[in-house]
Amino acid sequence: MTPAAPRVRLIGLPYDGSSSFLHGAAEAPAAIRAALESSHWNSWTELGQDLAAGGTMSDAGDVLLSAGDRARAEIESAIAEVLAGGWRPLGLGGDHSITYPVLRAMNRSHPALTILHLDAHPDLYEEFEGDRFSHACPFARIMEEGLAQRLVQVGIRTINPQQRRQAQRYGVELIDMRSWEAGVRPRVEGPVYLSVDLDVLDPAFAPGVSHREPGGLSVREVLSSVQRLTGTLVGADVVEYNPRQDVGGVTAVVAAKIVKEIAGRILAENSHGDRPGDRRPG
Ligand code: MN
Ligand code: MN
Repeated sequence: MTPAAPRVRLIGLPYDGSSSFLHGAAEAPAAIRAALESSHWNSWTELGQDLAAGGTMSDAGDVLLSAGDRARAEIESAIAEVLAGGWRPLGLGGDHSITYPVLRAMNRSHPALTILHLDAHPDLYEEFEGDRFSHACPFARIMEEGLAQRLVQVGIRTINPQQRRQAQRYGVELIDMRSWEAGVRPRVEGPVYLSVDLDVLDPAFAPGVSHREPGGLSVREVLSSVQRLTGTLVGADVVEYNPRQDVGGVTAVVAAKIVKEIAGRILAENSHGDRPGDRRPG
């Protein structure tokens, strides 16, 4: 049987109970959707798909989440449901703590996953202010549970000795901003999960985040990374948009644009996971 062409399902994960500094990321899914649905907006991706056309992208709405630890189990089962329906999940965070329960569900369908993680921060703390499930820790939990075969981090510009030890311990491949500037780019293959923390962007492009860290990527560099991503993109999240920190709603539009192009990148694969760009010219 030929596998069906990929289909994308948005799913809102309005949770910011594991944010260490500011709250507000729980309000992000509604704000990103409003940008995606705004009449100023164009539903066509740069790769040429109309996301408003039927059968390409659907929306599961927001997951109703409890406070505290139960939220993680709820996120995990909601993502498992999306996967069981034959969809590729595109999660709208929420703070970055959501990625750990998402990966618990992803791992059951894709045991040999590579994660491409775009972030100013490595999020590898063993625990942060007493919380092992803080948004500063998801990739430590993911790697210690073996939920991914490879973790490739891009855009990092805040690493300290403690997190560098954690990166070594888990064999994390780090492309920090200085390496990026020197021209290093990620090379991934096989099933890939993409996690985009919006603070990977320079705050000049995306001020609406809880932890602004200057010296980051441009919107164009993130979009190009998405479009050039090799491998089969089996799921993704866009996290850490904080509407309370935004300026004129500009970051909501940036988040929506990244969501749109991730969906486009998923839909550009044919049923075998090849992309038009993989074909030989001629
Ligand atoms: Mn993060
Ligand atoms: Mn971050």
